[in-house]
Amino acid sequence: MSFQTLPKVELHTHLEGCAPPAFIRGLAAEKKIDISGIFADDGGYAFRDFDHFLQVYEAACTTLQSPEDFRRLTMAVLEETAAHGVVYMETFVSPDFCGGGDLAAWKDYLAAMEDAAQEAEDKLGITLKGIVTGIRHFGPEACKPAAKCAAETFGDFITGYGMAGGEMVGRPADYAYSFDMAREAGIPLTCHAGEWGGATMVAETIRDLKVARIGHGIGAVDDPALIDEILEKDIVLEVCPGSNVVLKAVNGWNSHPIAKLRDAGVKVTVSTDDPPFFHTTMTAEYAMLHQTFGWEEEEFAMLNKTALAAAFCDDATKARVAKRLEPAQ
Ligand SMILES: [Zn+2]
Repeated sequence: MSFQTLPKVELHTHLEGCAPPAFIRGLAAEKKIDISGIFADDGGYAFRDFDHFLQVYEAACTTLQSPEDFRRLTMAVLEETAAHGVVYMETFVSPDFCGGGDLAAWKDYLAAMEDAAQEAEDKLGITLKGIVTGIRHFGPEACKPAAKCAAETFGDFITGYGMAGGEMVGRPADYAYSFDMAREAGIPLTCHAGEWGGATMVAETIRDLKVARIGHGIGAVDDPALIDEILEKDIVLEVCPGSNVVLKAVNGWNSHPIAKLRDAGVKVTVSTDDPPFFHTTMTAEYAMLHQTFGWEEEEFAMLNKTALAAAFCDDATKARVAKRLEPAQ
């Protein structure tokens, strides 16, 4: 089994967070923006901890200033992702980074991203869908325009609404207005929780935001009653083990709860989150899952089946992607 060529589905990535460092350095040079402080000697992104990671991430985003930049970004990201066997990817996109939450500007950025996604689908056989994302540490008020952008552009490319950013800022209920607005527009929902906030944050997120998927969710492992609720409500976890290891949300691969959650019957999926930041790829995630937990082709096939079933795209897209997951004849 080649971990790299095995067809894969990943549900939890952040578009800007997937930006190859060389791509961001190139944009910074073009625009004469000095962000040299965010890079390590080896050319990768450098950060100390989760809060510093958010600062470095936002500094990298200052180079992305126009729809054309996002068209180029989308293409660069999909080339890299497709090289690791990914045939379907969902990515968080933020109106805050694309026109400052203005709906008209957002539509221009979106058109550029969709354009690149279509080109990548034709050339590389990878499908990309977007999940509009509110940034939690910008506060509940700032998430409202994001949810409005989601409601106004929900359709073929934008297939979900979610929330990322600093998990310990506020409680889930503070953000209910945005999630309610998105739900009323018929948009599928996900939210980061349980990466830092433990089982309580996961439980509140399910109760107050009524999401179908949880980003990370690993904190749920400590609460058997919550695991029962996750099973009963058929909630899917977007687990990003390599991200958790690098940001020290867990002590290491050996103590990562993904295997325990899977053994408890929870629907787990695997994604890279922000791969160049965490020195990971989908190939590396699979290799580490194999090395740490002995997962083989059967387990990986199940991960992908679960992920495709939980994808926010329409059934026609799912059927098309399912064909790419079938073993070669
Ligand atoms: Zn994330």
